[in-house]
Amino acid sequence: MSFEQEINKRRTFGIISHPDAGKTTLTEKLLLFGGAIKTAGAVKSNKIKDHAKSDFMEIEKQRGISVATSVMGFEYKDVKINLLDTPGHKDFAEDTYRTLTAVDSVVMVIDCVKGVEEQTQKLMEVCRMRNTPVICFINKLDREGQDPYDLLDEVESKLNIKVRPLSWPINMGKSFKGVYSLYDKDLILFQASRRELNNDTLKVEDINDPELENIIGENDADQLREDVDLIESVYSDFNVQDYLDGKVAPVFFGSAVNNFGVRELLDTFIRIAPNPKPRETDLREVSPFESKFTGFVFKIHANMDPKHRNRIAFLRICSGKFERTKAYTHVRQDKKFKFSNATAFMAQQKETIDEAFPGDIIGLYDTGNLKIGDTLTDGEKATYKGIPSFSPEIFKEVINKDAMKTKQLEKGLKQLMEEGVAQMFVYEMGSRKVIGTVGALQFEVIQHRLKHEYGATCDFVPLNMYKACWISCDDRKKLDEFVKSKYRHIAQDKDGKLVFMAETRAWLQMVQDNFPDINFHFTSEFE
Ligand code: GDP
Repeated sequence: MSFEQEINKRRTFGIISHPDAGKTTLTEKLLLFGGAIKTAGAVKSNKIKDHAKSDFMEIEKQRGISVATSVMGFEYKDVKINLLDTPGHKDFAEDTYRTLTAVDSVVMVIDCVKGVEEQTQKLMEVCRMRNTPVICFINKLDREGQDPYDLLDEVESKLNIKVRPLSWPINMGKSFKGVYSLYDKDLILFQASRRELNNDTLKVEDINDPELENIIGENDADQLREDVDLIESVYSDFNVQDYLDGKVAPVFFGSAVNNFGVRELLDTFIRIAPNPKPRETDLREVSPFESKFTGFVFKIHANMDPKHRNRIAFLRICSGKFERTKAYTHVRQDKKFKFSNATAFMAQQKETIDEAFPGDIIGLYDTGNLKIGDTLTDGEKATYKGIPSFSPEIFKEVINKDAMKTKQLEKGLKQLMEEGVAQMFVYEMGSRKVIGTVGALQFEVIQHRLKHEYGATCDFVPLNMYKACWISCDDRKKLDEFVKSKYRHIAQDKDGKLVFMAETRAWLQMVQDNFPDINFHFTSEFE
């Protein structure tokens, strides 16, 4: 197979949802269709359950699971699918945001009973930042959910994107019978099956075929024909380009746990979802078809074995072919590295690979050289953009509890921040260290890991803080003046960027009004 064919056959996407909508279940069914697993129950949820909040062993276990299942590669009908799982728990939202920088498209799972939920909305905003194409899968149609038309309206209004149904349910709840594919214009009825794929499917080529009445009954046949007429007249024809531009979200209905609607989703997905696209670096746009290798690290995971401080860096290949035997340039450190035990993630296994192509995610064993956002190239000094940090929501000051272990604490904190567990801001004044996170869970993870992996202990003192704002100004002098006048509230982030620590919303507003030339940003990356 040629290099171009390898790229064109790849679809790298993320599955996202509010917790409990059915992300894990859908992932599992997709893997079943791809033949990557044989029976249901093989995919473990990587969600951190609420009861795990105070149970460190449980958190550790969950972290282990999330390594195993965070990237799953499999082939389906000659398409190489790279599926990236994301933690649904909101405390790990940063992790999810970063994973979304490594995908070319997204499948969003929505619970038909609950409709669009809080996390769904937040994740959609992140997709919008990069115009990532989104497909919606409305799940749990075997339950009495909201009316499908209402659900479509809700997705449109709450997620602020146009929708286009590409499948349509025949009833819901107890009388749910399956879905009609508006894309292929055929009907495949499945027997509800929780454990395996049922090949005993019934295919109806034309819904006007009188045979349909015999299969689903006269009432349902009439209703389906009516619905299909209505949809085709209300919604304009599905335009793939609008989907690829992130303007329209195709919608599928189904029940993941029963295997309804999953094949319709997958069969359409492999045809319309984008293959790897060009990406921006600080110097230029890089096409995946360029022969020279480039890629970036979007996730780092500490190894589970505390005796070896190995980490796995997840790298998204953006261009060229990755070869195990070659040395690549680590742009930030301007050094060459070889990754002779790079691994691919095939379904649930990791296996050492000799080569990999744009769109693929590979795991690189690292002893502390790589951090999130790092670019590897075949020599070029370009760095990929688009891995912003978001302003955290909870802030706590770090207090060292053991002066003898200061070095260990510094080292541990540095490494944990590089893994993206949380963000650290160091005040200009007095070098006070403040850790910011999206959720409370991270503080427990940090304390636990500092103790077990670095032998350091620390306390956290909660701070009243509204936001950390990255600041910029076209006029260097004005920025300096601002920093001088607000020096008590100025800190640096991990890259040495200036951050204004705003204690309250009202105060931030006042400062913004008083310093109109200063730009305040809620993410670390801005033009
Ligand atoms: P996640 O948190 O989004 O990964 O959700 P899970 O896949 O773990 O599913 C959450 C719960 O919903 C589990 O109990 C699933 O068995 C259940 N579930 C998933 N899909 C369906 C479905 O189609 N119908 C029904 N009734 N339950 C489902």
